[in-house]
Amino acid sequence: MSVSIKNNIHMNKPKFYQAVLVPIEDVLEYVYKNKADLFTLTERMGSEKAECPECGKNKWWLQPKEGAAVREGGKPYIECLNCGYLTHL
Ligand SMILES: [Zn+2]
Repeated sequence: MSVSIKNNIHMNKPKFYQAVLVPIEDVLEYVYKNKADLFTLTERMGSEKAECPECGKNKWWLQPKEGAAVREGGKPYIECLNCGYLTHL
């Protein structure tokens, strides 16, 4: 009895991960690989400066592919590092 309770606790143990921000040289190339030529930042984000529509900054983090938004949306989601605005490429 006590063994099964212990196993249960073990199975439900929370896991926490951290994402480490690494600069990406060319995000379209990184995301779309050999299809990157088909896309431009102007087309995807309004301009080559890729400014956030909420706050006007242009630093983004690409959400990890393991994340739920990416898994369910099937898109490369990015979040504004300044205000948290979520969009996709
Ligand atoms: Zn923003």
